[in-house]
Formats: sequence, structure tokens, C-alpha cells
Amino acid sequence: MTSKDRLSLYQDPNVQILLSKFVKGEIIELVPIFDLYMTVRYPDVEPSVDGDPRDAKELVEKLWEAGVFKRKFHEKALVCPSCISANVSNDYVCPNCNSIDIERKTLLEHVACGTVDSIDSFLVEGGLICPKCNKELVEPGVDYHKLGAWFQCDQCGKRSDMPNPVHRCRNCGHAFTIKDTGFINLYTYRLSLDAEDEFKRVFLVIKPIARVLEDLGFRTDLPGQIAGRSGSLQRFDITGSKGSETIVLDLIFSDKPIDEVPVASLYAKIFDVSPTQAFLVSIPGLTAKAKRLATLYRMTIIEANSPEDAADQLKERFGWEGLAEDNTEEETSTDLTL
Ligand SMILES: [Zn+2]
Ligand SMILES: [Zn+2]
Ligand SMILES: [Zn+2]
Repeated sequence: MTSKDRLSLYQDPNVQILLSKFVKGEIIELVPIFDLYMTVRYPDVEPSVDGDPRDAKELVEKLWEAGVFKRKFHEKALVCPSCISANVSNDYVCPNCNSIDIERKTLLEHVACGTVDSIDSFLVEGGLICPKCNKELVEPGVDYHKLGAWFQCDQCGKRSDMPNPVHRCRNCGHAFTIKDTGFINLYTYRLSLDAEDEFKRVFLVIKPIARVLEDLGFRTDLPGQIAGRSGSLQRFDITGSKGSETIVLDLIFSDKPIDEVPVASLYAKIFDVSPTQAFLVSIPGLTAKAKRLATLYRMTIIEANSPEDAADQLKERFGWEGLAEDNTEEETSTDLTL
């Protein structure tokens, strides 16, 4: 999946609800829960999709395929190879007739007389009596030993040391062994760092900024592409057009002051497409060197602490230009009155 596919995913309101929880730290990791009917459920995702467990599962897989989530192996679920249901029994059957109707028998040895027999032959009300010498067996390990166990089939009467393990699907009735069992991996999921950055930029940061431009009458694209004189398409985080006016905006989001590299890269693109105005929004601010360069290149710099702050400053920037004209007129008229 490409970045474009991810960008369209970020437009999905359910995705926005879910990813915002990761960004705010309300969810760190999606931990799967094994479910007999669904195989796997992601309870933390369900509130984002109106509580539908199937939709939640689908959304998690879609986000993983798009590279938004990374995953780690959590556990393996055994499923029916015929219908993929995880509602599967673990049975042991008689190796002779395949009946499930088997019983475990324990073998006892009476130490005093050496009699070895099934525990059933020793059992009397409330205790154990040797069937041969009729003495009572009181202390385990002293009076008697357990010699082990075997299994007896109540259908065909055959004894065996080890019955055969088989699985039976409770959904479709199919019986199968380990040789053709289906397996499904269950994973934990986390938001990938790249996707977190991308989502923050597109949804949390760029969206409110684009909305300001839309309110000012600009038609916006995010991201937007403009063909330059060089013949190549230049990509900007936002492009906006209104009549003959074209504006471009790039946003840089970092946890430390931003250096001159993105300034130079924006300049190369501006040089190619010659927009009416170019904005560089940096959260937080630029280094002094980067700021000097941006001013030299005639970029409009917006240094903000948060996406909301950036949107407010952009609004002010446009509003201030409008106000500036009004102020001039007012001053002129005041001058006239005087
Ligand atoms: Zn089945
Ligand atoms: Zn049998
Ligand atoms: Zn005995």
C-alpha cells in the first residue's frame, strides 16, 4: 500500500477516532483476545466502529496492510481446516475403534503381597482393600504404589497406554488430527512511528490549517501537486487556489527546532512553480539560520507550538493583511477629519 492509500484511510472517521487514541496515549498496544466464535477480537478497537467486533477486526487488518500498524506474534489459534472455526475440541480416542468413550485406569501394587491390579479392584467404601489378601491399604508409598495408568475403551474393551489425540470441529463436525489442523496467528498491534507522524501531520495538523484556507475561499488539496517549469510535479502538504492566486504550504513537525534543510527543499519547489505565496509552517520553530534563509527566500514563516496555534496564526496572517488595509483607510479618514 502506498502513502496515498494511507492518506485516504486517515479520512475515514473511524480511523481518526482510533488513531487519535494512540496519539493521545490512551492506547499503546492492541492486545488480541481469543474468542471461540470470532477467533480473535480487539476490544479496544470496537468502540471506534460502533461496537462491531467483525468491523474492528477488519479495520485492524486494513491498517496493518496499509503499513499504519506494525504487529508482533502473540499466540497461535488452532482452527478447523474445513470451516476455519476456532471452536474445536481436543479429544483422545481409542486407537482400536476410534471411540471417544475411554476411561483412565490406575494400576496399584499391594506392597505386602505383591498383587498388581486396577484401582477399581481395590476400591471399597471409603478405602482400599487388597482383592487377594483382603488387607487394608492405608499409606500411599508404604502400603501400596501407583504403577501408572492406562486407558480402557468402554466400547471395544481394548486397553492402551496412549489414546490418539484428535480434534473435532463443533461448528461443522469435521474430525481431524494435527497433520491437517489449521493455524491462525494472533498478533498485538502498535501504531508505526512513521504512520503516527504522517497521521499527525495530515489529520491533526494539516486538516485544521487547510480548513482556515477553505474558510478564506481557497480550494485546497492535501497533499497537492503543481507542475513546475522544469516539467516535474512538485508536491506540497497543501496547495490552495482562488482565482489567479496559488498558494503552497509545507509543514514541518519536529520535537526540536527545525534547521535549514526543509527550507532549502521548499525553496527548490517554489522556484519551479512560482506560487503567489509560499508558507512554511514549523512546529515548533526554526533555528536562527533557517529563519534567515526562509526570509531571504521570501517565504511566510509560521512558527507554532501546536497545530491549533498554527491554524490561528494563519487566520491572523490573512486577517491582519485585510485589517491593515482597513486601518490605512481609517487613518486616512482620521487624517482627513483632522
Ligand atoms: Zn469446521
Ligand atoms: Zn475401542
Ligand atoms: Zn494383598
